[in-house]
Amino acid sequence: MLAILFFGTLSFVLGVILSYTANKFRTEIDPIVEKINRLLPQSQCGQCNYPGCYSYAKAIIKKNEKINKCTPGGSELELKISKLLNFKTSLKTTVINEKKIFYTVWIDEKNCVGCSKCASFCPVDAIVGTPGFVHTVLQKFCNGCNICLSHCPTDCIKKKIFYE
Ligand code: SF4
Ligand code: SF4
Repeated sequence: MLAILFFGTLSFVLGVILSYTANKFRTEIDPIVEKINRLLPQSQCGQCNYPGCYSYAKAIIKKNEKINKCTPGGSELELKISKLLNFKTSLKTTVINEKKIFYTVWIDEKNCVGCSKCASFCPVDAIVGTPGFVHTVLQKFCNGCNICLSHCPTDCIKKKIFYE
């Protein structure tokens, strides 16, 4: 009888300790990281310089990592991630009244102070330039997300819209 009581109490105490520990050290799952991870090819190839797809997905959200580091995913993946992250105007092309409209940006070079802030925020590395010198936007890579605009201290990044 005493043994039953002893083991019963022991298992109760252990149960409480286990559930406390599980609760305390629970890994928070970030739903947006999960969603990005699901878009990634899961090849775990490390070409993004992270040990695997999940670490890369986490870095995009937690460390402001660029979204163009996954070689197997390519530009299609970039587009999916930018849509998921609500880079609202990230679709470079839209069609209005059967006209194709392209969105990109350009840098008004006479006002560029070469601070490089824009380049560090561009998710697809479309801005090139050495710190201290004029920067420029590689039109071919710009997806028109406009993220760089708010990071330029001299307001020298301008929207560019053209029609086909
Ligand atoms: S709009 Fe700016 S941040 Fe966005 S892709 Fe083009 S250059 Fe990069
Ligand atoms: S943020 Fe503006 S000033 Fe700084 S490098 Fe880019 S374009 Fe030039």
